[in-house]
Amino acid sequence: MLPLQSRVDIKGESLYSPISQDRHYVTCLQCSQSFPLEHCPVDHLAEQFQPSMSFKIYYHTLEFFGLCEVCTPKAAD
Ligand SMILES: [Zn+2]
Ligand SMILES: [Zn+2]
Repeated sequence: MLPLQSRVDIKGESLYSPISQDRHYVTCLQCSQSFPLEHCPVDHLAEQFQPSMSFKIYYHTLEFFGLCEVCTPKAAD
């Protein structure tokens, strides 16, 4: 077997393993830091999805982009 094949397998395994966990982040455009959100802003949306489309949703990821506290320019007087 080619070494490349096994590498693909390992990658595919991690890709398809069910991470039944929602992830929410805010990512700073300036320092590229990601901060996890404590609360899910769209939890109720995922539930509303279910009846309207035939798709079983296991989890979702959500990322907001902006500026973190450190990078946000302070309002100067
Ligand atoms: Zn920042
Ligand atoms: Zn969520």
